Amino acid sequence: MTNVVVALDVGGTGMKCALVRPDGTVHHAERHPTRAERGPEAVLGTILDVAEGLAAKARADSLEPVAVGIAVPGVVDEQNGIAAWSSNIGFRDVPVRARIEERLGLPAALGHDVRVGGIAEARLGGGRGHRHVLFMAIGTGIAAALVVGGEGYSGAHGAAGELGHIVVRPGGEACPCGQRGCMEAYGSARAVGKRYAELAGAPGATALDVVTRAGQGDHLAATVWREAIEALADGLVTAQALYDVDVLVIGGGLAEAGDALLHPLESAFRERITFHRPPAFVRAGLGDEAGCIGAALLALDHLEKLA
Ligand SMILES: [Zn+2]
Repeated sequence: MTNVVVALDVGGTGMKCALVRPDGTVHHAERHPTRAERGPEAVLGTILDVAEGLAAKARADSLEPVAVGIAVPGVVDEQNGIAAWSSNIGFRDVPVRARIEERLGLPAALGHDVRVGGIAEARLGGGRGHRHVLFMAIGTGIAAALVVGGEGYSGAHGAAGELGHIVVRPGGEACPCGQRGCMEAYGSARAVGKRYAELAGAPGATALDVVTRAGQGDHLAATVWREAIEALADGLVTAQALYDVDVLVIGGGLAEAGDALLHPLESAFRERITFHRPPAFVRAGLGDEAGCIGAALLALDHLEKLA
C-alpha cells in the first residue's frame, strides 16, 4: 500500500487540507471554513474531525495514512506540538499534536504556517536547488521564514522570521504590533490598499488595484506603490545583512502582482546595497498550497526522526 500524510494548514478564515504523497504531490485536497468565532475548542474539534475524515478517505482509496502534519499561525512550540498563541484563531497553549495523536492513533507534527510554507517553497517551489532560502509572504501582514538546507529556523521562542516588524521608518505609521514605522505598516497588501484608499478617497481599493492603476499612469497610485517598494527594499537590506541568502522567494497575496512587484523591488534593493551580495528574487511556486504541503513535509521529517 502506498503511504500518504494527512496535512492541514489552518488559517484564520479557512483550512487547506490534503492527502500528500511522500514526494510532496497531492493525492486529494479539500477546504473547510475555520469559523474561528466559535472559539478555540470548537476549531480544534473541526481540525480533529477533518483529519480523521482524511485518514478514512486515504484508506478508502487503498492508501495508508502514516502521519499527520498541521500548520497554524502565531507562535508555535514545534518541539512540544503546542499552539502557544494565535490571535486570529484564539489558540492559547493548545496541545494540538497530543490531541491529534490521541484521536487518530498516528504520529503527528505541528508547525508554524509560514515556516512550513517556507520549507515547501525551499524544497519543492521557488527556492528549489538553493541551500539558503528566505521565504517572505506579503499579505495582510508580512511574515518570513529562513530555510537552510531544507530545514526551517524557528528561533529560541518559535518567533523567528517576523521581518514585517523590522522598523524601516522610525517614528512612522503605527503598526498593530505596537511599534511605529514597521515594514509591514508600509509594504503589506493591507497597508498599500489602505493608504491609497485614504489618499484617493477610494474606499475598498486593494493593493492589486493600486498596482494596476500605477501601471495605467495614476500618479497617486504610482507614489503609494513606490513608497511601499522602498519600505520593502529597506527591510530586505536588513534581512540580507542578517541572513545572506541565495534566493528570496516572495509569496502571499501581493506576489500576484508578479513582475510589477519583483522587478522594482529587486532594483530598489540593488540601489541600496554596498558590500552585500544580492539574492535572486523569485516568485513563490506553490501558491496558497505551500502551507499544506509544508505541513506534510514536516510530518514526514518527524516520521524519519522516529524511525
Ligand atoms: Zn509592527
